[in-house]
Amino acid sequence: MHTASLRQLFLQHVAQTSSAPMALEVLRAEGIYLYLADGRRFIDLVSGVSVSAVGHCHPKVVEAVKRQAEQYMHLMVYGEYVQSPQVMLAQRLAELLPQNLSSVYFVNSGSEANEGAMKLAKRYSGRTEMVAFKKAYHGSTQGVLSLMGDEHYKRNFRPLLPDVRMLEFNNVEQLQQITSCTACVLVEPIQAEAGVALPQHDFLKRLRKRCTGVGALLIFDEVQTGVGRTGSMFAFEQFGVVPDVLTLAKAFGGGMPLGAFISSKEIMSSLTHNPALGHITTFGGHPVSCAAALAALDVIESERLLAQVHAKSERFKASMLLNPKVKEVRGRGLLLAVELLDTDLLQRFFKRTLEKGLALDWFLHCNTAFRIAPPLTITEQEVDEACRLLHKCLDS
Ligand code: PMP
Repeated sequence: MHTASLRQLFLQHVAQTSSAPMALEVLRAEGIYLYLADGRRFIDLVSGVSVSAVGHCHPKVVEAVKRQAEQYMHLMVYGEYVQSPQVMLAQRLAELLPQNLSSVYFVNSGSEANEGAMKLAKRYSGRTEMVAFKKAYHGSTQGVLSLMGDEHYKRNFRPLLPDVRMLEFNNVEQLQQITSCTACVLVEPIQAEAGVALPQHDFLKRLRKRCTGVGALLIFDEVQTGVGRTGSMFAFEQFGVVPDVLTLAKAFGGGMPLGAFISSKEIMSSLTHNPALGHITTFGGHPVSCAAALAALDVIESERLLAQVHAKSERFKASMLLNPKVKEVRGRGLLLAVELLDTDLLQRFFKRTLEKGLALDWFLHCNTAFRIAPPLTITEQEVDEACRLLHKCLDS
């Protein structure tokens, strides 16, 4: 089919909520590169928004997908049959995580993982209040939308969940507002869509202490930060704080759709009675997705990707900070926000990146920065190649 007509059909029939979709027509993707129908090659600096941690079409992941697809695909709604990819992945996670995070409920997406975690907290605690933070993003379904950290995105969808309290990230005084009425606190240890806001000082430790003190469950949303993005398998490892519930998605599936909420066996068991089937999913933990996830974890380990994240991050930072139009580079590992002098500059910059072959993206809650979140497999030469193009876009 002719390129133009495929694009027209895309615009006509594939619903978009973006007012300005990039509409790149991708024929093939490999490593950090996207190969387009018009012959151009793009560098993917967003990883499909923090998904392609092991690069596009990593041969080991592709092989695992093929192998599992030939063996079996969907068999039965979640949790009824013993499916080896699910079991092996759950066991692998339990090995990677602290002891209290040993029971894994597989779902399909980040939103669903957080929805499940919120239901779990309500059910376990018998309480109703949920606490989240301004500038947070936890997904787009109505439960998690209730905890979205910006009224702009919620206003026209009300009524949403009642009993939600929004606090300021890094505001230690406001932690007093978490009380014995609070079922859970849902928080990203690093707020990605805020433009990569890092926890200051010992904010997460104090949050942990407060939650423990009042008996509220602490849920870490590591949908974006998990599975190596920040340089450790999970971001929470870097802050010395263990949550009661952990949620994963995005990079977790190695490029396939997969999410999970993970807790202790004791907490998780509250979803099995009164009512039984406290959370249900048909496709959660799809065997092909779980096989891909296992392969991706293997790649992260066998290629020692975590150990290289810091150096690659510093290389990006050092290069970007040489440009006078860059005000600041924030972040951890390969989740970076490059803050420019103003929004107009950022808009002009984005236009040029499309001309120069860079796939980038905005942050939902920050209109002065762009993100750098390439596959963790990016090489140092590729970092330099990307930086050269970024400077060209900033300077032209
Ligand atoms: N939590 C965080 C921190 C996210 O960044 C996202 C997606 N950007 C989600 C949850 C929602 O994930 P999904 O789009 O898979 O529902």
